[in-house]
Amino acid sequence: MYDVKSNLKRVLADLPQGVRLVAISKYHPNEYIESAYEEGHRIFGESHEQELRQKVETLPKDIQWHFIGHLQTNKVKYIAPYITMIEAVDTLKLLKEIDKQAAKNERVIDVLLELHIAEEETKYGLTPDACRQLLADGEWRALEHVRICGLMMMASFVDDEQQIRSEFRIARNLFDELKALYFADKDYFCERSWGMSHDYPIAVEEGSTMVRVGTSIFGPRVY
Ligand SMILES: *Cc1c(COP(=O)(O)O)cnc(C)c1O
Repeated sequence: MYDVKSNLKRVLADLPQGVRLVAISKYHPNEYIESAYEEGHRIFGESHEQELRQKVETLPKDIQWHFIGHLQTNKVKYIAPYITMIEAVDTLKLLKEIDKQAAKNERVIDVLLELHIAEEETKYGLTPDACRQLLADGEWRALEHVRICGLMMMASFVDDEQQIRSEFRIARNLFDELKALYFADKDYFCERSWGMSHDYPIAVEEGSTMVRVGTSIFGPRVY
C-alpha cells in the first residue's frame, strides 16, 4: 500500500499555519482514509455522491466531508444531512436546492462558489463576471440555510508556473473584491480553496487557505 502516513506528514509540513488540508480520497479505498485518520487527519474530500455515501456509512463519524465535485441538484438531498462543506457551487439553482435541503435537516450548510478561470474547457464553474453577477443579483441573501464561505478554483493543468500563479491571483483579487462588497463584516467569508498535488506550493504562496490534495498523499487513482 502507498505510504499514506508519511506522505500526509510531508504535505502537512509544507503548509503554513492557517492553511488547511482537504485530503482528496476519491477512488481510494477505506484503508487509505483510515491510515490518514490514524494520523489524526479529519478533513476529506470526495466528488461522487454514491462513493461518498458508502464511505460515510463505514468510516468514523467525526470525519468532516467536503464535496468537491460537480453536484447535481437531485443529489443534494442525500448529502445534506451530514456534509461539512460543498465546495463547488456554480449556479443559483444549486445554491437554492442546498438551502432547501439544509432547512429540511435544520442545518446551515457551508459552501464555496466555484470559479472557472483555467484555460481548459469545462461546463462547470463561474467566470469571474458570472460570479459577480450572481452576488449582485442578491437572491442569495434570502437563503438562510447556506453560508457562502469563500471561493474555490482549479488552475490550468500546465507546467507554466507563471500561468498557474496568475490564475491564482485572479481568484485572490476577486475574493478581495467580493469580500469588500458583500462580506466585509462576515468573518466566515474567509476561504480560498486552491492548490492540488501539482500546484499547492504555488497556491499557498498565492493566498490559499485550503488545499485539496489527493495524489501526493494517496498515490495515483485507479478509475
Ligand atoms: C481530484 C481533485 C483534486 C485532487 O487532485 P490531485 O491532483 O490528486 O491532488 C482537487 N480538487 C478537485 C476539484 C478534484 O476533483
